[in-house]
Amino acid sequence: MDIADWEKRYTEAVSNVQEQLLNVQGVFVAYNSNVDAMKHIREDEIKKLIGILGCERVHERIALYPREIKDPVDLMARLIIAMRDGKAAEVPTYSNDIHEWLMDNLVFDSARMGGQAGIISNLLANLGVKNVITYVPWLSREQAEYFADSPYLRHPVMENGKLVLKHPKEAFDPQQKPKINWIIEFLRGMKFSCAGEEYEVPRDNRLIVSSRPDWIHIDMAAEMYEHLSDIRESIDGAILAGYQMIKEEYQDGSTYKDYVQRAVNVIQRLKGCNPQMRIHVEFTSIQNKVIRKAILTDIVKKHVTSLGLDTVEVANALNVLGYEELAYSVINKGENSIVSLYEGAVRLLRELELQRVHIHSLGYYICVVSKDHPLDADAHRQALLFSSALAATQASLGSIKSLDDVSAGLAVPVYGQGHDDLIELERYLVRRGVCTAEDFEDGCISADGHDLIIIPSKVVKEPVATVGIGDAISAGAFVALLAKMPKMNICRMPE
Ligand code: ADP
Repeated sequence: MDIADWEKRYTEAVSNVQEQLLNVQGVFVAYNSNVDAMKHIREDEIKKLIGILGCERVHERIALYPREIKDPVDLMARLIIAMRDGKAAEVPTYSNDIHEWLMDNLVFDSARMGGQAGIISNLLANLGVKNVITYVPWLSREQAEYFADSPYLRHPVMENGKLVLKHPKEAFDPQQKPKINWIIEFLRGMKFSCAGEEYEVPRDNRLIVSSRPDWIHIDMAAEMYEHLSDIRESIDGAILAGYQMIKEEYQDGSTYKDYVQRAVNVIQRLKGCNPQMRIHVEFTSIQNKVIRKAILTDIVKKHVTSLGLDTVEVANALNVLGYEELAYSVINKGENSIVSLYEGAVRLLRELELQRVHIHSLGYYICVVSKDHPLDADAHRQALLFSSALAATQASLGSIKSLDDVSAGLAVPVYGQGHDDLIELERYLVRRGVCTAEDFEDGCISADGHDLIIIPSKVVKEPVATVGIGDAISAGAFVALLAKMPKMNICRMPE
């Protein structure tokens, strides 16, 4: 299929999904929402901060490459490393001191909703999905302000022993402190010096200082957990994210194993006796390999139906599952990396007993689907096309306020380079007799044991914003599939 044909498919798919989206009864979204404090840092501010802390101290700390931000010197060291390399980085901090130091010495330009679950909740409500039940274990007054003003968006609260749903602005805990992440953005060409060394930023990028105070628990109060079954009939599926915040050990002696078990219990509660309930997990970069592995093998495996991730995250997942070579081949950008990406997706599908693995990359999306998934390959292709138009909308407008905004993304052309990048995979599959070149060009391939769906995506040349595009892709495709699912009979057996 040439690019012009893909454009036609895009238009059809977006119009179909737009019509069908009202079929979705509801979606449960948890866990991670936070406030993103945005700061575009200037050269004079870098110089000022280095001056306050002292060049020598910062210089020495750069050599130590802190993995966690314990004090302002760690922060400056990681900021300078990110600026020196022009690379994005996310570094955790476990106290509130850094936020206060930044407020005293830098101050942010603007603030907005952050965290995968928060971004996805607002997106779905703005698209007009009915009944978006968002859940944040640390819903503070400040956090609640960043939720969309939509009647479709509600948060569970316990009142007189009953679970009731209210807009987050009416459901927050007044005692709860906010979780605020700092996103410090820098521009290519910025120059400064530190301890005799000259720096020039090679690329626009950002450092995220991720706040992880003690009270961050991926959890749910026992009373609410007991009543979770009350919302089961009003949702078709759930999108879960934020498991990366689980820690190996807690001050009270509990460990990640306790939190993994609770996370699984929540999924089981949501499913009840309805094995058809769709559960999507949005993966992310997780430095700690013990946690990364536990999330995949203990939460995702057997309990989850759908997994969304980018190419680096595929490599990270394969790595902890024992496929080091394949993981290396996915990220080494060689000729075979797209073949390895596909083979990696198949491994994840099988090993984690999933029904769907959706990988997004700049230029194309690859999705592998098990044969027992209730929808056909064409439905999956439409969902991917819709999600790509949504991503292009997010990149060109910076935010999505309504379903009609998707026309802005639809107007973005399909990325020719992405289409060309798929050729290596086409050669590989045709050579092995898995499919013909025509099937491949069509984007729907029936392979041994699974279906493969591939689309070239729409890419915005000069995006207004880049944060949250991955979340929009995964959530958009998942909800498009929910809209297409035949409605099932949910059993109403007492528990
Ligand atoms: P995040 O969730 O922070 O956006 P991810 O790495 O999970 O980060 O997702 C980024 C995805 O966004 C890429 O895989 C790519 O598909 C998409 N993307 C990035 N930039 C653009 C762009 N300019 N236009 C369209 N899609 C983009």
